[in-house]
Amino acid sequence: MLAQPVLSQLEQIVGKDNILTSKMDMVAYSYDATADMPKQTPDVVVFPQSSGMVQAIVNLAREHKVPIYSRGAGTNLSGGAVPVKKGIVLSFQKMNKIINIDPDNLSAVVEPGVIIGALNAAVAPHGLIYPPDPGTVATATMGGSAAENSGGLRGLKYGVTKNYIMGMEVVLANGEKVRFGGKTVKNVTAYDFANLFVGSEGTLGIITEITAKLIPAPKFRRTLVGTFKTLADAGNTVSGIIAAKVIPATMEIMDNMTLRTVENSAKIGLPTDVEAMLLIEVDGMSEDVVTAEAEAVKEAVIKNNGTLSVAESDKERDDLWAARRNALPALAQLNNTVILEDATVPRSHITDMLIACQDIGKKYNLTLGTFGHAGDGNLHPTILCDKNNKDEMERMHKAVDEIFAAALSFGGTLSGEHGIGMAKMKYLKDEIGESGVELMRSLKAALDPDSILNPGKMVPAPAEA
Ligand SMILES: Cc1cc2nc3c(=O)[nH]c(=O)nc-3n(C[C@H](O)[C@H](O)[C@H](O)COP(=O)(O)OP(=O)(O)OC[C@H]3O[C@@H](n4cnc5c(N)ncnc54)[C@H](O)[C@@H]3O)c2cc1C
Repeated sequence: MLAQPVLSQLEQIVGKDNILTSKMDMVAYSYDATADMPKQTPDVVVFPQSSGMVQAIVNLAREHKVPIYSRGAGTNLSGGAVPVKKGIVLSFQKMNKIINIDPDNLSAVVEPGVIIGALNAAVAPHGLIYPPDPGTVATATMGGSAAENSGGLRGLKYGVTKNYIMGMEVVLANGEKVRFGGKTVKNVTAYDFANLFVGSEGTLGIITEITAKLIPAPKFRRTLVGTFKTLADAGNTVSGIIAAKVIPATMEIMDNMTLRTVENSAKIGLPTDVEAMLLIEVDGMSEDVVTAEAEAVKEAVIKNNGTLSVAESDKERDDLWAARRNALPALAQLNNTVILEDATVPRSHITDMLIACQDIGKKYNLTLGTFGHAGDGNLHPTILCDKNNKDEMERMHKAVDEIFAAALSFGGTLSGEHGIGMAKMKYLKDEIGESGVELMRSLKAALDPDSILNPGKMVPAPAEA
């Protein structure tokens, strides 16, 4: 419980309309979108509206050694926003201004609480897009997605958040404000601070402004659907398309279990009698190039024993993408606990990983569906279980251990886009070794010596490693 004078000072900093302390409000901030995570109510939630306010809050927190948990929309899937050690939740919900859009420099400057979809809506009249598009574009914030280095459906061709951060303003744990990068295309001054803070999950500094890179919106797009009788045929098609030198904007996979569930909720006629479906979109500035790429996709699908169809109308295309975005919410309706992982493998191992996930699900007698960004080797094996069934939860934990072990054995990684948070700390040393974990600790200690920034996340304490 925070002492009353500290609460009063927080209220003075943000104003009485921008602070919450009631028990009911604290419950609302005790969790995020991640299943099977510890929940914890904070002592207080504050809504700063300027970086100056953030600095004042950090100075107060440092003086009283109170943890600060930055929060965007709370949609992350690694327990990153849960205030496990109580303290202050710093919500960026009200720091949500688009400061400027600069078509000449293909950039926009935004506050961290801007919703990704709102930025895209604002830049669309300029014929521009901000490409990173996690499934939560309509809710997730620029600050949260920068802190997670989020990916999304268009990662294959357009990259992930780190490729679109040109500059930042960050408030450090000592209360200092640093700015780096900016609107220049090139900038090699000093360390690459953007790549240090992007993906640091609120553990090294608090992002208070972002200069984002924009690109011209593609003029033509075509959405194609490949269906397959085996996972191997679907996986081989992914490699086949890339081998044909086509980089689709998106190449998403849904296995049979996911297809049946999504069709049950979307009712748009998705095939439910196939083992896997690839949803592929090619796009570009030239219709001829897009047509040629669509033709190459078709050839790869057919060569791998698949059946191809093309979305004939905007409605058909939009329905297909909405169904894909609905995969997780649809699966989540089947049971009370949805464990969604994002183990990622080099693309050449996508078939191996798909089959490994299916085998692991069978071995532990679990309901497991796999969907995800197949073109990036980034799969989301999703286990549906009942948190009241102890035996099933134990089997689920064993299966998750094996999924990560399989990904690493194929030269992959623990997380392609959802981050480490609380969920994957125990596996870190398997990927980056003891010395890698020690380096993380040194960095954390240098930038946040009192461990007030998102403590209990990403950087394992010695006993947790
Ligand atoms: C249905 C569904 C689909 C999803 N699909 C995808 C997907 O396709 N790709 C993908 O990558 N992710 C996906 N996600 C995960 C999630 O949406 C992303 O991680 C998202 O970008 C998080 O944004 P947020 O605003 O909700 O951040 P939050 O969850 O609020 O925070 C995320 C992390 O960032 C920190 N943080 C927040 N704001 C700041 C700040 N200003 N400064 C410093 N640290 C900060 C928090 O402390 C936390 O550690 C999905 C989630 C759901 C529920």
